[in-house]
Amino acid sequence: MKKTTGTDRSITRNWRPATRAVRGGTWRSEHGETSEALFLTSGYTYDDAQTVADRFAGDAPGMTYSRLQNPTVAMLEERIALMEGAGACRAQASGMAAMTAALLCQLSAGDHCVAARAAFGSCRWLVDHLLPRFGIETTVIDSADNDAWEAAIRPNTKVFFFETPANPTLDVVDLAHVCGVAKAHGITTVVDNAFASPALQRPMEFGADVVAYSATKLMDGQGRVLAGAVCGSEEWIEDVLLPFQRNTGPNCAPFNAWVVLKGLETLDLRAHRQSENAVKLGKFLEPRLDKAGGRMLHPGLPSHPRHDLAMVQMDATGPIFAFDVGTRARAFAVLDALKLVDISNNIGDARSLMCHPASTTHAGLDEDARTSMGVTEGLLRINVGLEDIADVTEDMDAALAAAGV
Ligand SMILES: *Cc1c(COP(=O)(O)O)cnc(C)c1O
Repeated sequence: MKKTTGTDRSITRNWRPATRAVRGGTWRSEHGETSEALFLTSGYTYDDAQTVADRFAGDAPGMTYSRLQNPTVAMLEERIALMEGAGACRAQASGMAAMTAALLCQLSAGDHCVAARAAFGSCRWLVDHLLPRFGIETTVIDSADNDAWEAAIRPNTKVFFFETPANPTLDVVDLAHVCGVAKAHGITTVVDNAFASPALQRPMEFGADVVAYSATKLMDGQGRVLAGAVCGSEEWIEDVLLPFQRNTGPNCAPFNAWVVLKGLETLDLRAHRQSENAVKLGKFLEPRLDKAGGRMLHPGLPSHPRHDLAMVQMDATGPIFAFDVGTRARAFAVLDALKLVDISNNIGDARSLMCHPASTTHAGLDEDARTSMGVTEGLLRINVGLEDIADVTEDMDAALAAAGV
C-alpha cells in the first residue's frame, strides 16, 4: 500500500473533527484511488515463508487473515478512533457484537457489573440473562440517580455499563460524575454511545474508558448495514479486547466497514440536521401532548429533567425522542395513520421512522424490567430524519389527530 497521511497519527491528530471524519484512516493502494478501496479478501499471500513467520510472531507488520486484520476494516477503525479521541478501535459485526465483546473480554466469574436500568432491549438481556450464566453478578440501577452508582459498588465490581441518552426513554447519565466514581474505585466504564455518535458526544472527554457503538445507526445513517465498534486506550484494546476478539471472531465484514466509512463522511452534517429537526418536531408536539395528558421524553427540550446536563455533554441532542400517548391501542392508531413516517424499529436513518418499543425493541424483556425502565404501553419512539421537517410535522399532526391525541 502507498503511504498516505490518513493513518499517520503525527499528522491526523492535529486535524480538526470534520477533517478526521472525511479523511481519517484513508490508506491508498498503488492506484491512488480517491474513495477507500474495498478489500473483499479473507486471506493474504506472502513472497516467502519467513515473511509470514515474522508476521505471525508479531515481529513484522502486515496482514495475515481477515479475522485478525483487513485493510478496509482497518481504515474504518482508524477513522472511528480519531473521531472518538480514542487510542484505538476495533470494528465489530454489529452493535450487539460490540457490547458482548466489550463486556465478556474483561469480565470473569466472580466479578460484578453495575448497569443502567434504561437500556436497549438486547443490552439489558446481556446484563439480566447472559452475564449471570457465567457467574458474573449484576446490579441494575436508575442511571439518572448519581448516588446510585457509588451505592451499588461491591468489592468485586469491575465494570459500569450504560447508554446515554438511553434507548428508548432518553435517560441522560452524568458522564463526568459516573466516570469519576468509577475511576476512584478502579472500575472500567463501558459507554454505549449509539444514540449520539462521536459527532454529538465523545464520552472519553468526560473520563469514559471504553466506548462501544452500534455503527448500524447514525454512523451508517442510511439504513444499509449492521456494524459495530469498540474504542479504548491502545493498551486496553491490545491486551484486553484483542485476545477475545481474535479468538471468538465477531468481526465486521469489509463490505460493511466500507459502507460505514462512506457514512462517516457525512455524519456530522446528518447528526446536526437531524438533531435540529428532532427539536423542531418535539417543540411542535409537546403542547399537544401536554393537553392530552401525554409525556414527552426529549433531551433537547427544557422539560427533560436533565436537559441542562445534555446540553453540556452533547453538541446536539440527536435525532431520537420518545413520547407517551397513554395506551397501546392509541400508540398503534398513531403508527397506522402515518403516511410519510415509516413504521420501523431502526434509528439513526436519514428517513423518519417510528416504533412502539414495548412490542418491538423491548418485547423480549421481562415485564418488570420493561415497566421499571419506563417502557410503557403508550410509548412511541421516533427517529427524525433528513426530510423537510414541515412534511414530517404535518404527517405527525394528522396521525395524532386520527388517533384522537
Ligand atoms: C441498536 C442498538 C444496539 C444494537 O446494535 P445492532 O447494530 O443492532 O446490533 C445497541 N445499543 C443501542 C443503544 C442501540 O440503539
